[in-house]
Amino acid sequence: MRASSARGCRLCGHNCQVDRRSGQRGRCGAGQAIGFAQAVAHHGEEPPLSGVSPGGSGAIFFTRCNLACAFCQNWQISQTPGAGLDITIENLVEVMLRLAEAGVHNINLVSPTPYVVEIAQALNLAKSQGLKLPIVYNSGGYDSPRALAIMEGLVDIYLPDAKIGLDPSLGPGDPDPVAMRLFGAGDYAAVNQLALKEMWRQTGHLTLDSRGLATRGLLVRHLVLPDDLARTSLVLPWLAESLGPATYLSLMAQYHPNHRLRGDSLAEFRQFPGLTRPLSLREYELSVDQAWRLGLTNTFVQDLAAATNYRPNFNKPDAFN
Ligand code: SF4
Repeated sequence: MRASSARGCRLCGHNCQVDRRSGQRGRCGAGQAIGFAQAVAHHGEEPPLSGVSPGGSGAIFFTRCNLACAFCQNWQISQTPGAGLDITIENLVEVMLRLAEAGVHNINLVSPTPYVVEIAQALNLAKSQGLKLPIVYNSGGYDSPRALAIMEGLVDIYLPDAKIGLDPSLGPGDPDPVAMRLFGAGDYAAVNQLALKEMWRQTGHLTLDSRGLATRGLLVRHLVLPDDLARTSLVLPWLAESLGPATYLSLMAQYHPNHRLRGDSLAEFRQFPGLTRPLSLREYELSVDQAWRLGLTNTFVQDLAAATNYRPNFNKPDAFN
C-alpha cells in the first residue's frame, strides 16, 4: 500500500491547502510518502513515558516538521531537506510492531502532524495485528482540528508542546512577531490553545497505572526560555485556568543555543540576546514557583544539566546513545 497523503492539506495551522497526493508540498515540505528518521527505545522522556525498567518509550521520529523552531534540537531531521527515508504505511506498521516486540512501554510518534492520514491507517493495521501498547502523539502543538479529528480514538496520550503564550497586546488575528521568529508560526499561540483544549477533551488528564506508566490523557510540555521569551508567565496561568490545575505539565529547563542560534545565522536573532545563553537557575526556579503557586502540582521538573544531557545526534544509529 502506498502512503496516501492529504489532499488539500489542512493538517496544521499553516493551512497550506496543497494537494500532496499530486506531489505538491506545503510549508513543512512533506509530500506523498511518510518521512521517517529513526525508531529507538527512548529512555530520556518523562518518567510516565520512559518508565524505570529497561523498556523505554518506543519513539518513532518523523522528518519534515510543520514548525521551524530557531533552536530545534532535532534540526538534523526536522529542518534539513532530504533527511531520513521515505517509507510506506506497511513499513511504518513493521516499525511499530518491532518496537513492541523489543519491550517498549508505548509507541511515541514524534512530530507526527504532517502524516496523520498515513499514521491513522498504520495504527489501524498494527492494532489489527496485535499492537496493544498506548499510543503517544508527541507534537509541537500546532495541530489543526482536522488532524486531531483523524487521531480521535487512535491516540491514548497526547504529548504536545505549549511553546509560547498568547501576547495580550495583540488583537485577534494579529500575527505575533516573536512566535514567527522563534517558531515559524505567527498564530502559534491561538492554534495551540485550541489544540490543547481538543486534546484534553478527547483524553482528559493523564492517568497512570500501578507502575507509574501513562495509560491515557494529556501531558503538556513547556520549554522555559531565557528572559521569559516563551511567556511562561502567561502559559502557566492559561493552563491552570483553561484545563485545570490537575493538568500534567513537563516544565523543561533544557534550552541550549542550538541550530540557527549558532554560526552565521546568529545575527538574525540579535533582538533576543537571551537566546545566546542557557537558562539560568534563577529563571527556572521562578517558573517552577509560579507553577506551584497556581496549583499545578502535577508538574515534572528538570535539572539544568538537561541542557547538555538531552542533545540528540541523528547522524548516529541511536540519536540518544
Ligand atoms: S502539514 Fe501543515 S505545513 Fe505541512 S502541508 Fe499540511 S498544512 Fe502545510
